[in-house]
Amino acid sequence: MKIIHTIREIREYVREQRTLGKTVGLVPTMGSLHDGHLSLARQAKAECDVAVMSIFVNPLQFGPSEDYDRYPRNLEGDARLAETAGVDAIFAPPVHEMYPQPQMTFVDVEGLTENLCGASRPGHFRGVATVVTKLFNIVQPDKAFFGQKDAQQVRVIEQMVQDLNIPVQIVPCPIVREADGLAMSSRNVYLSPEERRQALAIYRALQAAEAMFGAGERSADAIREQVRSIIEAEPLAEVDYIKIVDLQTLSDTSLIDRDCLLAVAVRFGGTRLIDNVILRP
Ligand code: AMP
Repeated sequence: MKIIHTIREIREYVREQRTLGKTVGLVPTMGSLHDGHLSLARQAKAECDVAVMSIFVNPLQFGPSEDYDRYPRNLEGDARLAETAGVDAIFAPPVHEMYPQPQMTFVDVEGLTENLCGASRPGHFRGVATVVTKLFNIVQPDKAFFGQKDAQQVRVIEQMVQDLNIPVQIVPCPIVREADGLAMSSRNVYLSPEERRQALAIYRALQAAEAMFGAGERSADAIREQVRSIIEAEPLAEVDYIKIVDLQTLSDTSLIDRDCLLAVAVRFGGTRLIDNVILRP
């Protein structure tokens, strides 16, 4: 497996692979890899000849009071894990390689970024859409793999490649969970043992919601209230949002009569966790 730090070299690598007639899959990450990331890499390797994983903690997508500085970074450990998942090349540029001068051009996906995490994290999706556009232009993959854990991100990127005619196929991949149900996240390492225990309420609440929905409940309010009561029973939980939105438009809905997304963001201590489930009538 190659570890590449410059745009010139990753372009050269991808060009060589293409000359050999190989297809290229890209898995964008911020590193600190866990099984969620590795499942995307395995999927990339299953669907493409060559799997490229980018590892870049993108300053543009962090707010001023967010965890950019303390975000966990561990390229050596990541490289070992990525190799086991079949990654052929890691692209891990330093910040000055991606942003050699202050960025003046940004990608804003309107409409899809005002609700959910977009409301709590102003500028976040602008940072994501901009860096993903740069990565697509640098690597020029045939397919790119994104986790459904970040469901809003998937919709934003899908819309962006359509609107901007970027020739890449977006492949959404299922959420990978710990054995007890907590969605894997690089930020889970911030949780104290007690926070980690209480954070399980998120998964319990999503399961309860699915059960209600399975039993025929179609009122978004009724399901949201149930989710809220399960999560708020944990004293350390601070709900950021609990929302049921149309899966296509990501706007709030009161009646679940089409594919909808139940998405939650909850803080435990200083750590903000997100999770979701799709409700399909
Ligand atoms: P991140 O490093 O957090 O930016 O995540 C990189 C990619 O991995 C994104 O497409 C995430 O949606 C995906 N991802 C993160 N956690 C999980 C998970 N638990 N299951 C599936 N995909 C995930």
